[in-house]
Amino acid sequence: MIKGSNAIVTGSSRGIGRAIALHLARRGANVVVCCLSRVDAAEEVRERAEAMGVRAVVVQSDLATEEGARLVVERCVEELGGVDILVNNAGMSHLSPIQSMEDRDLERVLRVNLFSYFYMAKHCVADMLRRRVPGCVVNISSIMSMIGLAGGTAYAASKGGVTAFTVCLAREVARHGIRVNAIAPGYIETEMIGWMPEDYKAKIIPRIPMRRFGTGEEVARAVAFLVEDATYMTGQTLILDGGIMID
Ligand code: NAP
Repeated sequence: MIKGSNAIVTGSSRGIGRAIALHLARRGANVVVCCLSRVDAAEEVRERAEAMGVRAVVVQSDLATEEGARLVVERCVEELGGVDILVNNAGMSHLSPIQSMEDRDLERVLRVNLFSYFYMAKHCVADMLRRRVPGCVVNISSIMSMIGLAGGTAYAASKGGVTAFTVCLAREVARHGIRVNAIAPGYIETEMIGWMPEDYKAKIIPRIPMRRFGTGEEVARAVAFLVEDATYMTGQTLILDGGIMID
């Protein structure tokens, strides 16, 4: 399923998305590398992917709008011939006490973390149905939607929405051979958690049974499992958190 297929990985200029795009390229997929503003970083991912012998395209767009999502899917169809794999990964973090939550911030978090997943799935599924291919969607959620984080109501709600969205979309498209699953990572070492001071990290690590943060590459391998090996699995959320949820 991965080799020779076309994969869109949103938010793949850096962090988890970058690791996913490069892992899929290593396994033989052509990739659409997406970014919001860091075009240089996305170009570097494209060059690395092409050096692995696959085709790669960079698209810069704001996925918080349907136009931005449509642009990515159109470029994938025009340049690679269609979409087989969609990894909805682009996201932003947000921390604010509820009493000082600004409406525009709430809307931005929901647009970037949840609406973009709808928009991307809408246009990718339409292409998969048109071409009658057994496509695969992987949505990156977060364990924050299950364990919570003080100040993280908007972020956690957006990620809880991703889980519910995954279940419903899986039901909707299963009969067409399209599978939809999610991954809920715990703490993964990227810029998204780069704001954490070392003493804060030192307090979190002992609460992780595996006593470390995860890596983007570990998330990428789980994506490859869902795409390639989990052929009878749909509507599920795979938890990848070093054991936090069993503690
Ligand atoms: P990151 O390092 O902050 O990277 C975010 C990526 O999303 C970048 O490629 C960024 O593009 C892109 N992006 C942000 N807003 C966008 C928008 N409006 N339109 C298009 N692209 C946009 O984040 P990460 O840690 O890799 O996180 C990736 C996903 O995993 C997110 O959904 C996050 O919620 C989830 N997650 C992360 C963790 C963690 O601990 N890191 C844990 C659980 C879940 P630019 O580079 O151009 O800005």
